[in-house]
Amino acid sequence: MTGGEATPSVAVFGAGVMGVGIAALALGRGVPVTIVDVDEERLGTARERVRAELRLAHMMGALPRTGPAGELRLAGSASAAADATWVIEAITEDAELKAAAHREIAAAVAPGTARITNTSSIPVDELAGRVPSPADLVGVHFMNPPYLIGTLEVVRGPRTGERAMAAVKELLSVLDRKGIVVGDGPGFVTSRVLHRMINDAANVVAEGRATVEDVDALMEGCLGHPTGPLRTADLIGIDNLVDSLTVLYERTGDEGCRPSELLLRKVAEGDHGRKTGRGFYEYGVR
Ligand code: NAD
Repeated sequence: MTGGEATPSVAVFGAGVMGVGIAALALGRGVPVTIVDVDEERLGTARERVRAELRLAHMMGALPRTGPAGELRLAGSASAAADATWVIEAITEDAELKAAAHREIAAAVAPGTARITNTSSIPVDELAGRVPSPADLVGVHFMNPPYLIGTLEVVRGPRTGERAMAAVKELLSVLDRKGIVVGDGPGFVTSRVLHRMINDAANVVAEGRATVEDVDALMEGCLGHPTGPLRTADLIGIDNLVDSLTVLYERTGDEGCRPSELLLRKVAEGDHGRKTGRGFYEYGVR
């Protein structure tokens, strides 16, 4: 923790799938949260979406029902993060947008504040090279949904400093998460392995070798995958998955990461998964 604040607090950038999930996790653990998003519409529905995630987390027993919940604030600009103990950036998976957001965040927060990126695939050092005080930048790859999955990937870039690592350790302790520290590079460990597999699963369906349901049933029944790769794609958001695959493909040249035509078609048609009500499967309106 930095600055000796009385009440540690989190600023979360991005009111999307992950920002809302991370906010619910922190609030459920009694930590006040400020969510910052540039999209007014997203911000307008954020409070209700956080409430829905908290309800679900309580129903599943993933967060304690007792104890005070943190207070939620919503804001449209980075200056609202000025007093935050930790900043977690969970905005669109785009290196340009993220670098610009991190410059704004660095200008708004107290010097030495840990600036965490929740990127799925952009190397931390690629961002660190484009922002002030790169030692304060560290990757924490929360899994979706953040309140349910207790283990996450901590990405220590070559320029990440000890102070940022210590701040992450403290945050994970407050949030009751287990972090596994991995080296930097496109997709780190989890996205490098998982996203390529999901892409292959989409290609298998596109080739007509098996249905969506059968691919998932095989991966669940034979290999113990908890939700199947294509249901996982819907949970992640197919638009975000394609962005991450593009990052991986552009930085590794691995043909297995070139986004499947089927995934690209679903993005173009607006079938982004759970968040739009339809992806590989149909969902009730969220
Ligand atoms: P999303 O598309 O659901 O939400 C992104 C949000 O960021 C949008 O509300 C957008 O308005 C906002 N945004 C864009 N630019 C901004 C800025 N400059 N300042 C503030 N807000 C801004 O995306 P998501 O699925 O929540 O993913 C967010 C990040 O988390 C990405 O880096 C993604 O790769 C990563 N991630 C996603 C998952 C997942 O399962 N979806 C899991 C782990 C990590």
